[in-house]
Amino acid sequence: MAKIIDGKAISARIKDELKDEVARLKDQGKEASLAVIQVGNDPASCVYVNNKKKACAYIGIGSESYELPEETTEDELLALIDRLNDDPKITGILCQLPVPKHINEDTIIRRISPAKDVDGFHPMSVGALCIGEKGFASCTPAGVMKLLEYSDIAVEGRECVVVGRSNIVGKPMALMLLKANGTVTVCHSRTKNLKEVCKRADILVVAVGKPKMITEEYVKDGAVVIDVGIHRMDNGKLCGDVDYDRVEDKCSAITPVPGGVGPMTIAMLMYNCVNALKED
Ligand code: NDP
Repeated sequence: MAKIIDGKAISARIKDELKDEVARLKDQGKEASLAVIQVGNDPASCVYVNNKKKACAYIGIGSESYELPEETTEDELLALIDRLNDDPKITGILCQLPVPKHINEDTIIRRISPAKDVDGFHPMSVGALCIGEKGFASCTPAGVMKLLEYSDIAVEGRECVVVGRSNIVGKPMALMLLKANGTVTVCHSRTKNLKEVCKRADILVVAVGKPKMITEEYVKDGAVVIDVGIHRMDNGKLCGDVDYDRVEDKCSAITPVPGGVGPMTIAMLMYNCVNALKED
């Protein structure tokens, strides 16, 4: 029977640890404040933004909301980011993605000061991760690393296979596993013999964006399976990129969906917000 990696419990632990740290930093006169920008009112983005504001309130981080109309121009958004970059009270800036199509996402990501880039998407943050320097780490893969750490799953020397190479999940995930001394393989849509490659994994991280694609045929006996995917099925329930019911019996540990990687993303955003303060 696989151990279920409880992301809800681990993220709650991290948030409580951060709450204590924020209180300590406040005593030293250091206060974190996150600016959360949302352009338009995409329903999923509204939920994410609300959850982020709630997490800030719980931990004791200030948050300022900027809810801009759908028709906001790129220049207007850039002007707001410039203002927040220059505001010493703001220690972290987050622009909820996706932005409307008339705004270039990359331009926005690059405009946020790397010192306030709590999402860890700026090329400077990614570059720092790549060469092992200090910087903000992309929240979802950083959350996966915390799940492994808090579950006492060692990475060093183990075969790690990451399915997916997106800039926000797959690539930083591979870099983090490499930094932790894993032997890392990254798979993508052109990978040949995907099943065989996945079957080599001691630790299989799946961020492919295809509901229940990874079945028991992709998993080695005793592997650790981390499912980053999240999809809403026709029956309204959530599922991941891994077919949990078919894989569960084969692995030694697995993350469920929901309640696995998902809750860690916000916990790690909060972690970055607190770290931004410590950089001062
Ligand atoms: P992307 O769509 O940006 O990337 C998907 C990756 O999977 C690409 O690299 C693609 O390859 C690869 N891929 C697609 N099809 C196949 C295939 N048949 N075989 C092998 N590789 C394939 O997705 P994201 O990285 O943004 O997200 C991945 C999943 O994680 C999604 O389900 C998303 O909803 C979820 N997610 C969850 C988060 C959370 O907080 N839990 C946060 C972010 C994402 P190629 O590069 O060749 O196109």
